[in-house]
Amino acid sequence: FHPEDSVVEVNGIKIGGKKIVVMAGPCSVETEEQIISVAKSVKLGGAAMLRGGAFKPRTSPYSFQGLKEKGLELLKIAKQETGLPIVTEIMSADKIERFVEDVDVIQVGARNMQNFELLKELGKTNKPILLKRGLSATIEEWIMSAEYIMAGGNDNVILCERGIRTFETYTRNTLDLSAIPAVKKLSHLPIVIDPSHASGMWWMVEPMAKAAIAAGADGLIIEVHNDPEHALCDGAQSLKPERFAH
Ligand code: PEP
Ligand code: MN
Repeated sequence: FHPEDSVVEVNGIKIGGKKIVVMAGPCSVETEEQIISVAKSVKLGGAAMLRGGAFKPRTSPYSFQGLKEKGLELLKIAKQETGLPIVTEIMSADKIERFVEDVDVIQVGARNMQNFELLKELGKTNKPILLKRGLSATIEEWIMSAEYIMAGGNDNVILCERGIRTFETYTRNTLDLSAIPAVKKLSHLPIVIDPSHASGMWWMVEPMAKAAIAAGADGLIIEVHNDPEHALCDGAQSLKPERFAH
């Protein structure tokens, strides 16, 4: 019913077009200096958009939970400074109005991929949605979650493969590269790859990113931190700005 590939446009940047789109930034927004410094360096390194979590879904309730609304404010400042559109994660439907106002791409994290009530509410907006694949979700379940958003009238969905749970524990997750051709066959939606969460190790990001592009991905979302050793979240998988630029 939909033979043409969809192109999702974010402030004039086309995702699913001919160019590879790179989104980059820290796992979490930590301070004004940090987010502005990383935003400027990823822009210099070729990123088209800035990622950064303000509301963080953490395994432990005692871990850093994100700066929340303050984090959104800092992302807006970083956008003013660099012009980079913002990608950031939403965790609950009560924040949708705020996100629609302040954010360019709303990320639905792996843990919320099947939060159907959230997906339905996002379907009522017309914001681009980056829908991450669930930790143990099949490709069909993931595409059906995208369908929940589109059924409400919002066709601006970008799929994001971020690694899945397998028996392998050496890497944080297992990057399912075969999801790229599968999504291209089954769906018209663009797909970006997150080699950072897929591997959990900074030194695997470059080869996995290259593999994703070779397999037909439309873009990448990569964690970059100015001081990974002291990052409040996901330092081990974060690239330094110089490495990102390389
Ligand atoms: C993230 O992008 O920082 C994140 C929490 O990712 P995921 O939902 O894929 O685990
Ligand atoms: Mn992260």
